[in-house]
Amino acid sequence: MSAPRKLVEVRDLKMHFPIHGGFLQRRMGEVKAVDGVTFDIYEGETLGLVGESGCGKSTCGRALIRLYEVTSGEVRIDGRNIAHAGPEALRKMRPTMQMVFQDPQASLNPRMTVASIIGEPLDEHTKLSRKERLERIYELMDQVGLNRDFANRYPHEFSGGQRQRIGIARALALHPKFIVCDEPIAALDVSIQAQVVNLLEDLQEKLGLTYLFISHDLSMVRHIADRVAVMYLGKVVELAPRDRLYTDPQHPYTQALLSAVPEPDPELASGRKRTILTGDVPSPSNPPPGCNFSTRCPKVMEVCRKIDPEFREVAPGQFAACHLLNDPASPPGPDAAAGTEATPINQTGSPT
Ligand code: SF4
Repeated sequence: MSAPRKLVEVRDLKMHFPIHGGFLQRRMGEVKAVDGVTFDIYEGETLGLVGESGCGKSTCGRALIRLYEVTSGEVRIDGRNIAHAGPEALRKMRPTMQMVFQDPQASLNPRMTVASIIGEPLDEHTKLSRKERLERIYELMDQVGLNRDFANRYPHEFSGGQRQRIGIARALALHPKFIVCDEPIAALDVSIQAQVVNLLEDLQEKLGLTYLFISHDLSMVRHIADRVAVMYLGKVVELAPRDRLYTDPQHPYTQALLSAVPEPDPELASGRKRTILTGDVPSPSNPPPGCNFSTRCPKVMEVCRKIDPEFREVAPGQFAACHLLNDPASPPGPDAAAGTEATPINQTGSPT
């Protein structure tokens, strides 16, 4: 069997936003929302991207499809480099990559009918006749489970779940290959969430779609994703096949995050140790030196405060950035002070 094809390749992607201040609005610093992220997404797979609010996952998703001007790094989608493509080249690539937004209420124009919302990308990128355009709109409404008779209604006449279906139909209009789903169910009632997730899964199977599924809901990501990337303060700290990540997380942050997920089985729940993280997430405008997680990590060592750990393969297909997982044969780096590599210290920085 041939190896799966990489549809999306991200290399050292950085998305820094300048901070201006003072009387002359000088540049005072920058928010490092995404700070050197590297991963691939294979054709037909769903990569889950999880992390706490503010970790940079939504910014990463938007930067990937060039809704932002990226600061540096490479993004290749279907073999084409889009990170620094010019406006015309980007316009041509737009049909390949689309986005489903978190809040369907806010992402749909309330003054447009469903037919005009779904037809908008067709107007922009195709030369369909009126009849063909309407046929395509009906076809898309059928695909997402919306009644064709409602094509001339307005978004406010629909429920939250139906509005998200309209958003999905719009995203599908141009036959995309890659869709960034940015918290697509977070604004929906729990009873509706599973329906929308099932729809996304059905569409993926029928149309061969590839998803980046961004969510803070670890249980939902476990259901939908093939592989999962965990983000903390602008960096991916662990990436692994779903089952491996949930059963054998390697990075201390992933371990803490998963220990907070409610376990429905009381037997398993009783044997589980919960890790409670202390302290706040540092500001992305002023991340700590060394490992980004060093200010909250229960396993922090001296070396963590000096050297940023390398994101490397720690088991087949499982990648993580942590000095604890370094190959003993390859020490963290020439600057690691002798005798400090593995000295555990407590949260306040003193040796334990
Ligand atoms: Fe914790 Fe150090 Fe690993 Fe960072 S490198 S996660 S601080 S043990």
